[in-house]
Amino acid sequence: MLNVVIFGAPGSGKGTQSAMMIHRYGLHHISTGEVLRDHIARGTKLGKVADHYISRGQLIPDELMIDVLADLLDNNPKATAKGVIFDGFPRTIHQARVLSDMLAERGTKVHAVIGLEVPEDRLVYRMMSRGKETGRADDNLDTIKKRLEVYHRQTSPLKEYYINEGKYHKVDGDGKVDRIFNDIVNHLEKVRAEEEKMMQQEHQLKQEDRRQQQG
Ligand code: AMP
Repeated sequence: MLNVVIFGAPGSGKGTQSAMMIHRYGLHHISTGEVLRDHIARGTKLGKVADHYISRGQLIPDELMIDVLADLLDNNPKATAKGVIFDGFPRTIHQARVLSDMLAERGTKVHAVIGLEVPEDRLVYRMMSRGKETGRADDNLDTIKKRLEVYHRQTSPLKEYYINEGKYHKVDGDGKVDRIFNDIVNHLEKVRAEEEKMMQQEHQLKQEDRRQQQG
């Protein structure tokens, strides 16, 4: 099992790299932005609330977002068993703490955070191009500026948070898609090897305990 948070500013390539990671590792993709856009398209109650914030480049309030995430985890127990890529969640320190608790309740944790780091001018260029190609409503210059401001204020402190937890893996997110993916795979392979080593050590300790109890 591998739970990965793909982290970075809007336009840093989280969606593209998530798709490649799913293909390679068979992980379940949870993109909170996609879920919200789907609600907006279907005109649900949540969609109406989400649209209010998304069109202003603001974050949806934590409590609402946390309910959405809990639903996604609870309704997909099979899909989430192999591990999840969290794309666009967490976006605040509070969300990160809640995610950690939610995973602990389910007997697991965040194994790694992949931080895609991209210069600001490239982010703006990429989002403007995406807006032209896909018609995504929040990819216009005014909203992009607001989203970047919100990112710096509310989301970027998470980098420090995950560095302190020893989980942050920095990846240069500016360049060719395949090179970036290769860097991500290198980080994840190391994380997987370490996890396996830890599990073996735990297994050995348990066996020793059992032997001591018996004899
Ligand atoms: P994204 O597709 O991840 O760029 O998300 C698009 C928009 O959805 C963001 O600008 C936010 O308004 C909203 N959103 C997505 N995920 C979250 C989250 N975890 N917390 C709050 N708002 C979110």
